[in-house]
Amino acid sequence: MAKGHVVIRSDECKGCELCIHACPTGVLSLSSSLNKMGYHPAEYKGDGCIGCGFCFYTCPELGTITVFKKWDDIKETQYCPVCKKEQKVYPSAKHPEVNICTQCLNEIR
Ligand code: SF4
Ligand code: SF4
Repeated sequence: MAKGHVVIRSDECKGCELCIHACPTGVLSLSSSLNKMGYHPAEYKGDGCIGCGFCFYTCPELGTITVFKKWDDIKETQYCPVCKKEQKVYPSAKHPEVNICTQCLNEIR
């Protein structure tokens, strides 16, 4: 089965749980901690995502969920100054010479 990966922007999540109910593999749950808006955000358990995209299409908060359908195909890594660690990266659609960190989704300059 394909291995996917999901990244949730915690501070943009309103904790509605729609993605959690939509996920066929049960790999999403609510965090016990609060985000800056005072919600318990959804979080990925870290393994088991199949990249189906159901969570992405269910989430009412545009841009909160990013799904990588072919996680294992992303081979390139780079040091991300925001995450302060080596991360998988992919080229920006706007600036192909610039990579985007797959965890914080920021451009690496
Ligand atoms: S892409 Fe599918 S399997 Fe992965 S977290 Fe979202 S709903 Fe679950
Ligand atoms: S559907 Fe979106 S807003 Fe609702 S809990 Fe999931 S990530 Fe948060």
